[in-house]
Amino acid sequence: MKEYESLVIGGGPAGITAALYLLRAGVNMGWVEKLAPGGQVLLTEAIDNYPGFPEGIKGYELIDRFAAHLEPFDFDKIRDEVVEIRAEQGKYLVSLSEGQIRSKTLIICTGAKWRKLGIPGENKYSGRGVSYCAVCDGNFFRNQDVACIGGGDTALEESLYLSKLVRKIYLIHRRDAFRGLKVYQDKVFNDPKIEIVFDTVAEEFVGQESLSGVKLKNVKTGRESLLKVDGAFVFVGLDPAGMDYPRGMETDDRGFIITDQEMATSLPGVFAAGDIRSKLCRQVSSAVGDGATAAFNTHVYLEQN
Ligand SMILES: Cc1cc2nc3c(=O)[nH]c(=O)nc-3n(C[C@H](O)[C@H](O)[C@H](O)COP(=O)(O)OP(=O)(O)OC[C@H]3O[C@@H](n4cnc5c(N)ncnc54)[C@H](O)[C@@H]3O)c2cc1C
Repeated sequence: MKEYESLVIGGGPAGITAALYLLRAGVNMGWVEKLAPGGQVLLTEAIDNYPGFPEGIKGYELIDRFAAHLEPFDFDKIRDEVVEIRAEQGKYLVSLSEGQIRSKTLIICTGAKWRKLGIPGENKYSGRGVSYCAVCDGNFFRNQDVACIGGGDTALEESLYLSKLVRKIYLIHRRDAFRGLKVYQDKVFNDPKIEIVFDTVAEEFVGQESLSGVKLKNVKTGRESLLKVDGAFVFVGLDPAGMDYPRGMETDDRGFIITDQEMATSLPGVFAAGDIRSKLCRQVSSAVGDGATAAFNTHVYLEQN
């Protein structure tokens, strides 16, 4: 069985940065990624808020540059999925779909997944008008009309963020009341740019090269309509890409890992970085910062234990 001082799990921005910092510190490490390295960035058409690229950069190009930084180093890159972690005599036993690895420390960087609506046109127009992140893509829709779909805290918060940028927001919710916090509801009801459309579901995203509208259906009357918009933001939930953790791993009520500001989890020698953490800001730049912090503190932990 392979054994390391540290195992980085996940190859998105957080995992790549954690690996880079561990390798530069001379830590004997392994890296597990179930797909190609890059994570959610590979799903991103263009990133225009990562410092150093004022003209914006395509997601795959940014990842190529991240990955190039690791090229001079010789280390184990394991293409597999971690399914379970168990604590074992001061170390961790990590089960992959094929085989096991033992490691003294872990940096968990497995990210998160936006929930999709699963309606026609969603995949086709994703990145061409359909978005899941206001901070990432809101700027593309300055002074344009957009639909926001959802009724929880995220939908309300992100709609309020977008209302400072766009011309008009249609906030579409399938029920006749929001689930989100009262304080956000009050702000949304009082925002002149936000028109609330209750009892309504999105049935299809339509357009040509890019999105031009959303087909809607009123769930009470059955009436169908076409809403013309330049963009549509889907805010129906975000799930952690977790796994079976050892007993004692603290997570929030949605399953995101709780860390302190040094990225330490509740388990000794286990750090978490990036979107898998319980936090509000999920961005490439924050994932990179988390990855660097987690690796730095892993190194400190290894020197002390
Ligand atoms: C469509 C879209 C557009 C976005 N636009 C922007 C933007 O413009 N600007 C910005 O800053 N941010 C943007 N983001 C957010 C940004 O991509 C994420 O915040 C960032 O990628 C998080 O990095 P991460 O390393 O924490 O996780 P991820 O990028 O999610 O990477 C996690 C990696 O872990 C792997 N993994 C998961 N589970 C396992 C397992 N069990 N075993 C092994 N490997 C596993 C995954 O395959 C993945 O490669 C966007 C996200 C999306 C989806």
